[in-house]
Amino acid sequence: MNIVYIGLGSNQGDKIRNLNDALAAMRSISDINIKKTSSLYISEPWGNLDQPDFINQVIEIETVLAPRELLHYLQNIEIKMGRQRIEKWGPRLIDLDILLYGGEELNTPELTIPHPYMRERLFVLLPLQEINAELIFPGDGAKIEEVLIRALVREGNQKIERIQGSPADTFC
Ligand code: ATP
Ligand code: CA
Ligand code: CA
Repeated sequence: MNIVYIGLGSNQGDKIRNLNDALAAMRSISDINIKKTSSLYISEPWGNLDQPDFINQVIEIETVLAPRELLHYLQNIEIKMGRQRIEKWGPRLIDLDILLYGGEELNTPELTIPHPYMRERLFVLLPLQEINAELIFPGDGAKIEEVLIRALVREGNQKIERIQGSPADTFC
């Protein structure tokens, strides 16, 4: 079994519903076992500012799927949910990124793990720390807290807010 962290994001349509639909789709895959879900966070767009705010969430899953197999399942969910414009950093109904896959590091044209920008993104680091405050990054062994503090110092102006009362339930 591999412990994997997945980042969810949506900035079109009924954003919260889109995240919930994606979670339901993942729950229906027998090889994916959702263990933890973070609160929801509302954040301003990253990279391309001319688009609506995002709602983001991070989840922890357990899976026997290999990284590429998992990516294909996630891409299938994105497509089935109607994600059309495959524009990098553009608006989207749903975006499902593999953030961390156990302690593995992978660098292929199709898949980079850990996710290449995750250390810069508060909308990833805050929900990730919420569900695993003990997390250690593969490679340099950095602690989530250190990485988060570095990002806060560098990216302090990035607007982000936790949605009060959003689900932070644990399924273990
Ligand atoms: P970003 O990767 O910066 O968050 P994005 O999510 O907008 O940008 P997409 O258009 O959704 O990028 O994906 C482009 C490609 O990124 C995908 O087709 C996939 O092959 C590749 N990719 C590389 N590493 C990952 C990863 N860790 N998780 C998901 N996709 C990845
Ligand atoms: Ca993304
Ligand atoms: Ca993506």
